[in-house]
Amino acid sequence: MDQQHGAFTRRILTGTGTVVVKCPHCSAPGIFKAEDSADAASLQQWPGILVPPNDPRHNGYVGGTCPNCHKVRPPLSPPVTLFQQEIMP
Ligand SMILES: [Zn+2]
Repeated sequence: MDQQHGAFTRRILTGTGTVVVKCPHCSAPGIFKAEDSADAASLQQWPGILVPPNDPRHNGYVGGTCPNCHKVRPPLSPPVTLFQQEIMP
């Protein structure tokens, strides 16, 4: 527990994750989307990230080259630790 301005903050370890940022060139998401589950914005603006329904790449990282604009994407961040945080009265 960390004390913070007279209140307690409870932090619960929930696992690790990797931050996937959008493409700095065309703003495409950094993961593939199946055509049947993509939202309207993805369908219209970033057709390069779409994969056929049931394609195993669905929700997978697109890699170091953007599949939409074919420019270099930033590398993945190292894994980060994720916490659920509650401010206690
Ligand atoms: Zn791009």
